[in-house]
Order: sequence, then structure tokens, then C-alpha cells
Amino acid sequence: MRTRCYVDRCSIVSCPIGEIPARVDYYSQQSELKETKKLFPDYKEIYSEVQQINLQRLKKSWERWLIPDKSGKRGGKPRFKKVGFLRSFGFSRVNHAKAAIKFDGKNIITTRIGIIPVVVHRPIPNGFVIKTATIIKKADGWYVAFSLKDDSVPELIPVEQIKTGVGIDVGLKELAVTSSGETFPFKRFYRNAQAQLATSQRRLSRKQKRSKNYLKQLNRVQRIHQKIQRQRKEQHYKIAHSLVDRYDLIAVEDLNIKGLARTPLGKSILDAGWGGFLTILEAVAVKRGVHFVKVSAYRTTQECSTCGAIVPKDLSIRTHECPKCNTVLDRDENAAINILNRALNEAGIVLSAWVGLVDRQPLKQETSKTEKYIQLSLF
Ligand SMILES: [Zn+2]
Repeated sequence: MRTRCYVDRCSIVSCPIGEIPARVDYYSQQSELKETKKLFPDYKEIYSEVQQINLQRLKKSWERWLIPDKSGKRGGKPRFKKVGFLRSFGFSRVNHAKAAIKFDGKNIITTRIGIIPVVVHRPIPNGFVIKTATIIKKADGWYVAFSLKDDSVPELIPVEQIKTGVGIDVGLKELAVTSSGETFPFKRFYRNAQAQLATSQRRLSRKQKRSKNYLKQLNRVQRIHQKIQRQRKEQHYKIAHSLVDRYDLIAVEDLNIKGLARTPLGKSILDAGWGGFLTILEAVAVKRGVHFVKVSAYRTTQECSTCGAIVPKDLSIRTHECPKCNTVLDRDENAAINILNRALNEAGIVLSAWVGLVDRQPLKQETSKTEKYIQLSLF
């Protein structure tokens, strides 16, 4: 603003522009919090810790937008939070002498609101320290989420002890198909609930905005969404555990889900919830010390898993039939085998045999000249 002036009043050669104000950032806002409280007395009611965390969140979202990550991608532009859109707030310490919030195993004890009894879904596991707390408003009530810290890092299974591996291809027909031919079918939670959701949403649109009945109906809509999310998450956890129980190494495709969602199949892709599934699978695997490998998704469907020939096929072709080596496999199973092979190649592991592939010579060993392999056996 200070540099603005009329075109005809400014010297063409040079013009003092005055002091350029320092850029507003997290630190300046942080030190101005006291001032903010004077200007807006309502802010006195809010824990200063919560205010600081909100500034930190703002800083993070600015950085996500401005600074590209390793792959050169940037996050979306931070949006202004309208009334009702900020549904959670955080505390940076719990059970600390000066902390505003404490947890005794049954109650949340806050300095201002008092004692709030909580339903404990899961007891805090032994050896963990509660670091932060976030209070979240969800459709069916208020929740508190603790972040816990445990210094013992789960140990990865040593490479030479990897005996079983599995490749996983996520798809639209089945949620996942493994390299041993196992399929995990979809449960289309979203599509199933769509009719119900549509009715609820139509009712919502007839209500007077922000009225009591509007808010009630809004809550009904939100609860349907919440149910769908929970059903999906539960299914994902079940599959993840069943895989992690049986395999020492899990290989998946490195997918650009955001990019795929922009294609005509976007709705199905988001409904499939691959992103959530792969994240859960990774978390479960890491926790149990199972190797989790992401490989390039390039041509996993087209390549023949036996001989490496490229067999082009569009989405409608469900079987892989190789004209070169006569391999006939389910399309997704073929892709899953490719994914596993790539991961094993990358890690330099050869599984001499694994379920479903006992009689075949499964691995291409193109890179074997440069890589060191360890021979492993199931038997
Ligand atoms: Zn082939």
C-alpha cells in the first residue's frame, strides 16, 4: 500500500517508497498474540496453547502451498475457514505440570472447562507417553485423539529372513488382487448408501439455512458419511491384517491417486478408497516389522509376468493371454505378480518359491549382474 501513488505524481527517475513492512509469518503472529487478545477480548477465552497450535497449522498449510516437496508437487491453496469449518483444536502437551489438559485414564481434566468423563475406546498401551491431544467434533459427538510416543521402533524382519512376499494390485473390479491369486472384493459402501444420502440431502436443501431443523438434518447427512467412512476403514484394516499375518514383504504400486481421480473413472476411484487402504496397509506393515515396498506402476498391467513381453489390453479385457509364452492369467493377478517381481528386484531378493508359483520360474533377473541376491527357500 505504501508504494502506491498516482501515476502523474511520481518521479520517473526515483521515488522513496518508505520502509517495506516485514512479512507476516508464524513468528510475528505468535508475538502479536498478546496484542490480538487486547484488540479482540473474545480471544482471552481461548487457551493460548490452542491459539499457538492454530498458527502452526496455518504455517504448515502455507508451506504446503508455497514450497514444493521432493517430487516438485505443491499442496492446495489454504482456504479461509468459514464458521463451522474448523472442527478441531489441539494441545501441544498433555499431563505436563503446566499443561492445560490432563488425562487420568478415565477423565479429561482441563483447567477451564473442568473434568470431562470420556469413553475410552482403547487403553493407552504400556510404555507409551501421551504427547499431544486434539479435540475433534464429529457428527456423532466430541472426540479426543492423543498422539502417543514410543521410543521402541518396531524392528524390520531382516532381509535374509524374508520367506514370503506378496504383490498387490488395486483395481476397480476388485479392491485388491494378490500375486497368489487371492481377491478381496469391493464393498461399495458409498454407492449402497447413495439413495439414502440423496434423500437426506434433498431434505436438507428444503430447510431454512442455519435453522435448528437445518442443523439437525445436516447432522443426519454427516452421520451417513461417517458410517460409510467407518465401514470402509474397517474393511481395509481387516484385509491389511490378514496380509501382514501371512507375508514378510508386501509390494504395491506407487499410484498417483489425485491424478487418477480427475479421469472419468474418478468417482469409482475415490469410492474404492485405494489411498486410504494403502496408507492403512503401510501403517500395519510397519508396525509389525513387515517390509512394505512401493514400485513404479508403469506397465504393470501390460507386461507379461512370465516372459516380460508387452501385451496391450484395455480396461475391458479381464484376462492376460501372452502370445509369446502362452501364459494365461487373470489380468489383475498378472499385474500383482509384476508388482511383486519389481519389489523383489529392487530389494535384491529372490524367493525361490512361494504359494501359487511353485512350478514357474517366476523372476526376471535382468539386473542380476549388478545386484546382490540372497537365495531364500520356503521349504
Ligand atoms: Zn509371456
